[in-house]
Amino acid sequence: ETVRVDLGPRSYDITIGPGELRRLGERLRAVTTSNRVAVVTDENVHALHGPAIAEALSDFQTHMIVRPAGEAQKSMAGLEVVLDSLFRAGFDRSDTVLAFGGGVIGDLSGFAASIYKRGTTFVQVPTTLLAQVDSSVGGKTAINNSYGKNLVGAFYQPRLVLIDTDLLSTLPDRQVRAGYAEVVKYGLIDRPDFFETLDAGAGAQVLALEPDALRDAISVSCLAKADVVAQDEREGGCRALLNLGHTFAHALELTAGYDGDLLHGEAVSAGMDMAFEFSSRLGLCSAEQTQRVHDHLSRLAMPTRADMGRFLTDPNALLGHMRQDKKNEGGRITLILARGIGHSFIEKSVSEADLLAYLKDIST
Ligand code: NAD
Ligand code: ZN
Repeated sequence: ETVRVDLGPRSYDITIGPGELRRLGERLRAVTTSNRVAVVTDENVHALHGPAIAEALSDFQTHMIVRPAGEAQKSMAGLEVVLDSLFRAGFDRSDTVLAFGGGVIGDLSGFAASIYKRGTTFVQVPTTLLAQVDSSVGGKTAINNSYGKNLVGAFYQPRLVLIDTDLLSTLPDRQVRAGYAEVVKYGLIDRPDFFETLDAGAGAQVLALEPDALRDAISVSCLAKADVVAQDEREGGCRALLNLGHTFAHALELTAGYDGDLLHGEAVSAGMDMAFEFSSRLGLCSAEQTQRVHDHLSRLAMPTRADMGRFLTDPNALLGHMRQDKKNEGGRITLILARGIGHSFIEKSVSEADLLAYLKDIST
């Protein structure tokens, strides 16, 4: 499968399928004449798939940059390590930086690629489901700082994205589920047929890593994301739709704390459940549609609002977190709400009174 991200001179292809890694060399040759590739990866991915990436790049001169796993790498210190390593190895602008890992490695190395000598060729080979359906596509790169997550970064598109679904075979089940939240998200935003397919059984097959179901669901997800990104690369408008469930998720994540044992995708799963629940309270969406979303998630053992009890004890603090979201403008809370499954929209002035009443109602 190939999905094109249409961005004029910055357009690129995403190729998706089992065994895709074997085509990496050939695909790289099509976007660069340089023979040098810096592979940025983490220790887990390196231990599991280091030989496979080395084999795929055997015709190239490779420089491996292996970092510890974890969100802490998305920091100024982590960025400097990657940049220093590129300087030490004598990389120039025409050489390639290749992200081989999950969203942490993608965001960190993409940002490094964007500023190294004002920008070097960047390539994504994502290894988590979340990275394959979301973070490797669309050009957002970032690191975190003490003021919050992803606050320092750049829009910097890769020259190609290569998705080998075989790489997911080693991914822990909890990480697979976290990634699935972003898959079902695309159905809930504006692809009702995709939601129906997932609900009719494809969702369970994706979680079981069945190759055909995986390839299809990842392709639709990449297509959905590519579509939104092509319309609104820098999030002036509709790209905000991709944040369905994310403002609630953000509040849950902040409540849980940085290493609070709540994965981003888990928070998003519960956050989408909450966005639908809140939408039906406002009379925007039928209770039946909200119930369907909830049932889909719980049938697949995905986290819902009901699993978030320990983070839902302080409604005022949650509202405070939601006020800090990057989407907000002019002191008003922006939320992605829904009129039904596949009919989400951006609401730029959510009533804080309504939101607080909801948060009080569900508080534990
Ligand atoms: P991650 O990169 O931390 O990976 C999760 C864990 O899985 C890590 O321990 C990693 O070592 C391990 N792992 C990766 N691939 C594996 C494999 N094939 N087999 C076994 N283990 C493997 O987390 P993530 O969920 O991929 O990404 C989260 C990050 O992505 C966050 O920092 C988030 O801000 C960012 N993100 C960015 C965007 C964007 O548009 N740029 C979108 C969504 C999320
Ligand atoms: Zn997300």
